[in-house]
Amino acid sequence: MTDNSRNPRRTFAIISHPDAGKTTLTEKLLLKGGAIHLAGEVKARGDNRRARSDWMKIEQQRGISVTSSVMTFERNGITFNLLDTPGHEDFSEDTYRTLTAVDSAIMVIDAASGIESQTLKLFEVCRLRSVPIITFVNKVDREGRDPFELLDEVADKLALDVCPMSWPTGMGGQFEGIYDLTRNQLHQPEGDSKNYDGKAQQFTGLDDPKLEEVLSPEALTRLTEEGELAQGGYASFDLEAYRNGDLTPVFFGSALKQFGVEELIEAIAEHAPPPRPQPAEPDPIQPDSSDVTGFVFKIQANMDPQHRDRIAFMRLCSGEFKRGMKLIPSALGKPIAIHSPILFFAQDREIADTALPGDIIGIPNHGTLRVGDTLSEKNQVRITGLPNFAPEILRRVILKDPTQTKKLRKALDDLSEEGVVQVFYPEIGANWIIGVVGQLQLDVLISRLSAEYKVEASLEAAPFETARWINGSDEILNAFANINQTSLARDRDDNLVFLAKSAWDVGYQEERNPEITFSATRER
Ligand code: GDP
Repeated sequence: MTDNSRNPRRTFAIISHPDAGKTTLTEKLLLKGGAIHLAGEVKARGDNRRARSDWMKIEQQRGISVTSSVMTFERNGITFNLLDTPGHEDFSEDTYRTLTAVDSAIMVIDAASGIESQTLKLFEVCRLRSVPIITFVNKVDREGRDPFELLDEVADKLALDVCPMSWPTGMGGQFEGIYDLTRNQLHQPEGDSKNYDGKAQQFTGLDDPKLEEVLSPEALTRLTEEGELAQGGYASFDLEAYRNGDLTPVFFGSALKQFGVEELIEAIAEHAPPPRPQPAEPDPIQPDSSDVTGFVFKIQANMDPQHRDRIAFMRLCSGEFKRGMKLIPSALGKPIAIHSPILFFAQDREIADTALPGDIIGIPNHGTLRVGDTLSEKNQVRITGLPNFAPEILRRVILKDPTQTKKLRKALDDLSEEGVVQVFYPEIGANWIIGVVGQLQLDVLISRLSAEYKVEASLEAAPFETARWINGSDEILNAFANINQTSLARDRDDNLVFLAKSAWDVGYQEERNPEITFSATRER
């Protein structure tokens, strides 16, 4: 057995809609955790300390940027692994799959915007695996929506119990600080910058007369009235409900001004789960088992056409990994020695050569490793539950040279197995359809087809907007197929897929065919 209690890990991700403040919060978390010394480095990338280490050399040689994929910091004896879930133009299936490699998540929402579309999508993925969520309502230093309205929105849209852990005295021009409802502490802006500089003032409760001395009469009235309502009107914190993914503690703050950042780290340390058992066949993998097992949740390929190098990101599920160790990838069946793993420790990456459950290891390889692969010492287990997600962008693949059909099929099969794109072969017609969740995946596909497979292809619009895996009895599916033949395809594992013209189309077909299940995810 591995004694994980001596080496606590918290492996988590931040989910949010673009512009909610994920980058800013990441910087501040890393700054507090001592992993970086200057804010701004997350986006700017590259500093002297990094340039020294192994993995930076790999990046420089191969032009791969792995810097911000995994960020590790240590605080009060706990190792925090923060996995990046790229948004914006980098949004891809990797973004979703990264959430299968974490034990918990922080959901950042903009106080002025509430829950936005991308947050909702990412949340749904967390829900698939009951990943516990801590909510951070960001930007309270600016005008925002009423805090009660925001709490109710989280509760309604996500069907979660909410538990306010802190409260703003007002937002924007009326912001005079954040009151920590569990510790009865007030954090107030200081100096010209109006940042929080770490000084907490202790009170006995919301009725403490001393609050009058530090708050304006309006802010005091608001805080006492709203604070009491907030405490009385919502669920109280319940560790089990949180860890089951049924309740979310809510913190208010400002990443930019450093309000609420410390509380988030403490909440993750105190409440977020340590590495959880991993769904697997024949039995779930217990994190305290001494056999080393892990799974690949992401492949980062080199965009340089001269190389086929790529880095597989493996989440360690059990055992103590040591540099040089031999592990058997499930798809390969024979052991590979992992001589130059990339270990993402904040301080001394170059000398770190062991990893524990919850840690992420980057494994350079030439295409041996694929998304969803289990790596283990004995090759007796298979990780399950790593899903495929319904694509949101579908395109037809058009070959420039029609004699390359065979080569194209091989390439598409390979690349879909690796997790770059999904491929669908229509039941009728010869144009294969590929599906992705983010635009970047399309660019990667075209450039890799050309560089690695010497297949020149282009993409054109497909008359479909999304896809659903369908299941039902043979009879029912046959009847459905007779009517909808032009909308049916097979994925690379021969599963039947319904290609829909729109989200509305999906709803319509679901209603008309209650005996068929239409799934937006499929386990690999
Ligand atoms: P991301 O797209 O979610 O990574 O968001 P960023 O961290 O890049 O932030 C988007 C914009 O919001 C930037 O201009 C930030 O400076 C700003 N921002 C982030 N956090 C705060 C905050 O707490 N208060 C204010 N006023 N602005 C913020």
